[in-house]
Amino acid sequence: MLKAQKKRNAKVIFAPLSDRDRREKLFSSAENVLNHRAFHLLRVFSANENVGVKISRDTASMTVDLVCAIAGMLRSRGSVPFICDTSIRHFEPKANAVEHMNSMASHFESKDLESFPLVMLDGMNGEHEISRQDCHEMKPNVYLSGELPFVKGMVLVSQLHSDPLCGMSGALFGLGNGLASKRGKIGQYAMSIPGVNIEKCHTCRKCLRACPTNAIRMGDNHVEIDSGRCINCGQCVEVAKFGGVTYKWDATPDHFQERMISHAASTIDVVGKRIVYVSRVSSVEDDECIGLLFSRDPVAIDAAGLKMACESGVLTEDNTRIAESMLSLAEEAGIGTSSHELETVAY
Ligand code: SF4
Repeated sequence: MLKAQKKRNAKVIFAPLSDRDRREKLFSSAENVLNHRAFHLLRVFSANENVGVKISRDTASMTVDLVCAIAGMLRSRGSVPFICDTSIRHFEPKANAVEHMNSMASHFESKDLESFPLVMLDGMNGEHEISRQDCHEMKPNVYLSGELPFVKGMVLVSQLHSDPLCGMSGALFGLGNGLASKRGKIGQYAMSIPGVNIEKCHTCRKCLRACPTNAIRMGDNHVEIDSGRCINCGQCVEVAKFGGVTYKWDATPDHFQERMISHAASTIDVVGKRIVYVSRVSSVEDDECIGLLFSRDPVAIDAAGLKMACESGVLTEDNTRIAESMLSLAEEAGIGTSSHELETVAY
């Protein structure tokens, strides 16, 4: 009889922060964990290799300190660190590299940006991407940031918070959504190609000119989109400032998670497994940081974060269920394991 295979436990380290008032505590804690208890985490990167420190969309000044501390540690170990991110989808701040940098500058000290360059992995406007054709292991409908194949390693910093589509956003969200190109993100959030809002179309024709596949033509007093030609790139929505061409951001959790996990799996295929995950855990009441999680496994770190969030009442029952299904999907995709061993360290 075959013996049942023992499930591998992934290691997750938790560094709680007891003194919430001092941001120095945050990075000294990260420094201590990464230099001592989890030094093996940063050992995956070799000297002179470029290593991206991936920030998350809602990077706040507190996380910036953490990001700079991690980048500093990487440099002191001989790696070549840079801070990286991607564009957001439409009509939001950070929808292109310039807006993103401006927004970042308000959080970073200028000396930090001088020390560690900010690299937008999906180019100026989120269109620099790789797809299945460029990288055959990738799944269909997966569009990743174009610079990913050149990144030798990454420290992915995320903040745990509730999310209606993935239950709890954290490491898997950063991996699957945060490193997708703009088109990759659109495919996760929208179930269909853009639609025309007849009332709002001013027939300005900007979308016709922007469309790379000539999928838009003039109809009677409004534009029309040929679904057979549309590649869902979002260019038309970007230029349709009157709102005549829009997306319905109508993804269900199932649709979102399936796409997001496919992107996460493909990111690992492209970058390799040399990714270290760091998640900031916050309190329910005031969103203050109460500790940091560290792991090499994105599923394990999210599973540990989910357990903490459930215990502290941060997540609703619905979000907990949605987050659990995301973890199962990620396990099925072979991204990691939710079985983990949590070691709590204090400094
Ligand atoms: S999404 Fe892109 S391909 Fe589709 S109609 Fe708009 S511009 Fe054209």
